[in-house]
Amino acid sequence: MTQSTSQPLSQSERDQSERESSAVASVPTGLFAAGRWTATARRMPVQDPSTGEVLTEVADASPEEAAATLDAAAAAQQDWAATPPRERSEILSRAYRIMVEETDRLALIMTLEMGKPLAEARGEVAYAAEFLRWFAEEAVRIDGGYMTAPAGDSRFLVAREPVGPCLLITPWNFPLAMGTRKIGPALAAGCTSVIKPASHTPLSILALAEVLERAGVPDGVVNVVTTSRSNDVMTPLILDPRSRKLSFTGSTEVGKSLLELAAKTVMRTSMELGGNAPFLVFEDADLEAAVEGALAAKMRNIGQACTAANRILVQDSVAEEFAVRLTRRMAELPLGRGVEDGVVVGPLINAGAVDKVTALVGDAVGRGARLRLGGERIEGPGHFYPATVLTDVPAEAELCSTEVFGPVAAISTFETEDEAVAVANDTPYGLVSYLFTTDLARGLRVSHALEAGMVGLNRGVVSNPAAPFGGVKESGVGREGGFGGIDEFLETKYISVGL
Ligand code: NAP
Repeated sequence: MTQSTSQPLSQSERDQSERESSAVASVPTGLFAAGRWTATARRMPVQDPSTGEVLTEVADASPEEAAATLDAAAAAQQDWAATPPRERSEILSRAYRIMVEETDRLALIMTLEMGKPLAEARGEVAYAAEFLRWFAEEAVRIDGGYMTAPAGDSRFLVAREPVGPCLLITPWNFPLAMGTRKIGPALAAGCTSVIKPASHTPLSILALAEVLERAGVPDGVVNVVTTSRSNDVMTPLILDPRSRKLSFTGSTEVGKSLLELAAKTVMRTSMELGGNAPFLVFEDADLEAAVEGALAAKMRNIGQACTAANRILVQDSVAEEFAVRLTRRMAELPLGRGVEDGVVVGPLINAGAVDKVTALVGDAVGRGARLRLGGERIEGPGHFYPATVLTDVPAEAELCSTEVFGPVAAISTFETEDEAVAVANDTPYGLVSYLFTTDLARGLRVSHALEAGMVGLNRGVVSNPAAPFGGVKESGVGREGGFGGIDEFLETKYISVGL
């Protein structure tokens, strides 16, 4: 699986190729329902975005084949809900430990199917595993209430019960963590589930399912469907009245269509959707910290994160200095296959992603933006686009209103705090905003004025399993992680007790 050359492979290249093949071969590739892995009539390829080569093939379920997953989840629901919380917690803890022990294997699988650098993939395995640890701890803390009615004539008993079988749909950009962020609380709450990973990156979730099996998750409690026909396969499952919850992470466009579908059965939904994060740098900021923060917020996942800094807004007086420093740092980032040592700029997910980024940069330059670094797609095998810096980006440039999803830092300037906040909020999205300032009062004032579910105040990374992750406006509904994460998978039942 190393890039093909006309030269014979060296010993270290052969070793690397062997490591890659055995990591891929360790992943079961069937449909996973009721604790059994079964073959489907069709299979679909999984590609390495850094070479375009096919890594393996996995089940490509039809709607009829996929029905077995919901059947299994529905059949297992009652027993799983009745399983003692401590037991559910211990299963989650075991899965957490296995993931940590197998970090290298899971990270390599992720890098191969998604392209992100191995160091980031290891970070994602740790992040993903932490959701299981966090929700193992939450499983035994589901509480309720008991109170006297104001008139004193009855008692109110308030109980928390699992919502029921859940459908979990995840994107390709964080193939493992977006899965555990849903599976962890679902399992902790006593819900069974069917998970559908993105068709570009099914291997991480298939590997996770096998880890969960080994950790002792009973048959039917977690089921996995992989398919190239997401709409045809998921629509009947969403409309099936046995499904009681839809938790989706992906684009706002698809999220909106799934919300419409879920409305037909008034299904509970959680939506983690797209973003258009502003990154504000005030003239009183620690500029070095702001540059490092921008680098993290921009380049994590090769710019393919919902939390990526999409619009970098810098106060006039420090804008040139900031641009020079950020350009210098971006120019140093090594580009290559994610499996290569030291690489930071891996490939984008597919050729369409490179086309999109190329068009957005072309549009911005055409409207007067200044290209300071990169800006030319890289030909050859794999879907590479270089680290790119644009300054003087006009507000009308398409990339100011579109998720770039690539390694492009787009810098504009502002004069006043009010202007910065107005521009930052001028978007239908509201996932995360970042601001850098050393003025504490300004930091808090602007944090509150920003229309976002999350704010990075002097920080370029906000994600943490113990914190509530989610957006406002068209970036979503609900929160994942934190103390409230489990609530998304629980119903409140009130029992009025006569005396
Ligand atoms: P996507 O195209 O919306 O796909 C997300 C998932 O939905 C995939 O599994 C996809 O399957 C599936 N899907 C697509 N159409 C469907 C349909 N009609 N019915 C049922 N399932 C359907 O998003 P993506 O390109 O994978 O991910 C990138 C997007 O996710 C970005 O907008 C990013 O901002 C967002 N995101 C948000 C968060 C957050 O927490 N807010 C986190 C990560 C990513 P296929 O792969 O088969 O199309």
